[in-house]
Amino acid sequence: MRQILILLFFFYPIGGIAQQTDVVDFLEIRANLTVIPFQKSIEGGIHLKFRTLKDVDSVYLDAVNMEKTSLDIDYQSVKVETSNDKFWIIGKFKKNQEYKTSFSYQAYPQQTLYFTDDQIWTQGQGKYTSHWLPSIDDMNDKIEFDLNIAVQGRENEIISNGTLANMQFAGDMKAAEYQMNHPMSSYLAALVIGDFRKKEITSASGIPIELYYKPEDSLKAEPTYRYTKEIFDFLETEIGIPYPWQNYKQVPVRDFLYAGMENTTATIFSEAFVVDSIGFNDRNYVNVNAHELAHHWFGNLVTETSGSHHWLQEGFATYYAHLAEKELFGDDYFYWMLYQSAEQLKELSDAGKGESLLNPEASSLTFYEKGAWALHILRELIGDDAFKSAIRSYLEKYKYRNVSTEDFLAEVRASTAIDISQWEADWLNQSAFKAMQAFNSLSKSDFMDRYFQVSSLRSGPVSQKIDALRNAIESNNDFIGQEAVYQLSGEDRFVTHFLYEKALDSDNLYIRQAVAVSMDGVSERLKEKYEGLLHDKSYLTIETALYNLWSSFPDDRERYLNDTERIIGFQDKNVRQLWLALAIITEGYRTNEKTDFVKELRNYTGSDYSFEIRQKAFNYINDLGLYDDVVIDNLIQASVHHNWRFRNASRKMLSGKMKDSDIRETIEAKLDQFSEKEKQFLNSKLKTE
Ligand SMILES: [Zn+2]
Repeated sequence: MRQILILLFFFYPIGGIAQQTDVVDFLEIRANLTVIPFQKSIEGGIHLKFRTLKDVDSVYLDAVNMEKTSLDIDYQSVKVETSNDKFWIIGKFKKNQEYKTSFSYQAYPQQTLYFTDDQIWTQGQGKYTSHWLPSIDDMNDKIEFDLNIAVQGRENEIISNGTLANMQFAGDMKAAEYQMNHPMSSYLAALVIGDFRKKEITSASGIPIELYYKPEDSLKAEPTYRYTKEIFDFLETEIGIPYPWQNYKQVPVRDFLYAGMENTTATIFSEAFVVDSIGFNDRNYVNVNAHELAHHWFGNLVTETSGSHHWLQEGFATYYAHLAEKELFGDDYFYWMLYQSAEQLKELSDAGKGESLLNPEASSLTFYEKGAWALHILRELIGDDAFKSAIRSYLEKYKYRNVSTEDFLAEVRASTAIDISQWEADWLNQSAFKAMQAFNSLSKSDFMDRYFQVSSLRSGPVSQKIDALRNAIESNNDFIGQEAVYQLSGEDRFVTHFLYEKALDSDNLYIRQAVAVSMDGVSERLKEKYEGLLHDKSYLTIETALYNLWSSFPDDRERYLNDTERIIGFQDKNVRQLWLALAIITEGYRTNEKTDFVKELRNYTGSDYSFEIRQKAFNYINDLGLYDDVVIDNLIQASVHHNWRFRNASRKMLSGKMKDSDIRETIEAKLDQFSEKEKQFLNSKLKTE
């Protein structure tokens, strides 16, 4: 009977109407879920409320590879049938009536719900929530989700969308019941489970904000979340519409797929942004923090109807994140960020690969940065007041609904007498980037003007620009000073010596960093000043300086290593891993500890560590030829990792190793010990190599 039904649906999908949103509006999904880590599965009961817009005898929820385990006795007049990727709800449904049903399901998600180390988390956008929760993949049906999530282990924090309404304990099980007050698209539903602590703050408007971190990262919580309240308060004021959800939570997780994801009220972001106050200077969470929060208006409150309007989410979030950074770090920083993206967009465009903002297949660079540029230029054209008023009426009019570019444009036109049709043609429709217009806009900034004066000297001989470069370094401006230092690279050291000296004497961290990353080789005359870089408040500077000093002065290697032994660096342990590699290859250095150093480096390739740490460790192991059986096993396991960047890098490395017949034989001999996924991959490799 089931098969026949499925066939029927295949030929007559809901009476031949393609868009389910024309037929039914799903109002509420209440789910009681139990996550079972040891079998990487999820099971639960779904309570569903929907309103039919037409007479219809079936509606569906997207549900990939899910099994229905039971149907609630109260709803026997309604049937629920399972197909590959849907639950079909079958009954005699009348137009404009509300219906409820309830059933249970089980799933072993192959994507979207991830189990990493002792954390469990989801990524809905691009991966489809319907792999772990029966829901609607179409962004155009907004649903109020209330998730009640249970897991073994009382120490676990359970984080999801909305307000934590209730918490229950039974034996070793813990359950957290979350409630949303407003509907949203299914891709924004999320859960995170793990051992976290939290810091609680409140926005100026009274919104509770929870900032999660791992217990061992308590000292990193402040630098990681620095400026969160300022960003929140700024965006509420700037956008002019109060934050439209009950609360806000942010959680860093291991091995995340992107920088961050704006799940409504529960942003998940990459653990790589968890930094101490030194790491903050190099790579902080501020931009991503502001970007994901901005999505809570642009994306979550008003959601694109289709990929053609994706810039309404990414372009807006990028633009408002730039504005937040302008508020925190000043105008120079703002224009610098715009300039960086203009350079990238111009390069893409000059190569004939420019993309229209309305092209649903456009790259991230276009959606994010060209989108931000379009808004920046629009605001210059119509002025602050009209721009802000358009934004307010756009959000007010379409809140908790879906939007197209035309909806936004209509509000802009209503807010100004200025004709925006040329802007539409140039910035929305045209695929080439309007570089001239962008650079004209940038040169309104005094800072950019001064920067362009210095950068225009690039091709000239160093002897003719000494004064200009010295002034640039002495300006103490991060970007102008760095530009001057970069221009010294490869030039006659006799001429550049005193300029490098000046840069190293600077108290500007970024000008000093420019010396570390761009000067080739350290001369005896600069040695002492250069050694000061090993104590700078930048892990990037320390890593680079350690390597350069170690290379340039073999007699002092022991001193440099002893001096930096306790520095770990970023989340990927960049300084520590370089230190281990150098300690291993430095002749005569702590000979009796070498085995421990090798062991530590090999350990970092294992699944106890994040993919960022592992990737770095694999690279060093590869460079130093330190493979052993365990590292090879770890590499094989990494070749089927859920993070595609890491997976691809590992596969490439493994392919290289499998040319070695010894390693090939070792792998063949123990093929049976690997998991199904790993075996499949290895078999395909063994055949092709
Ligand atoms: Zn985004």
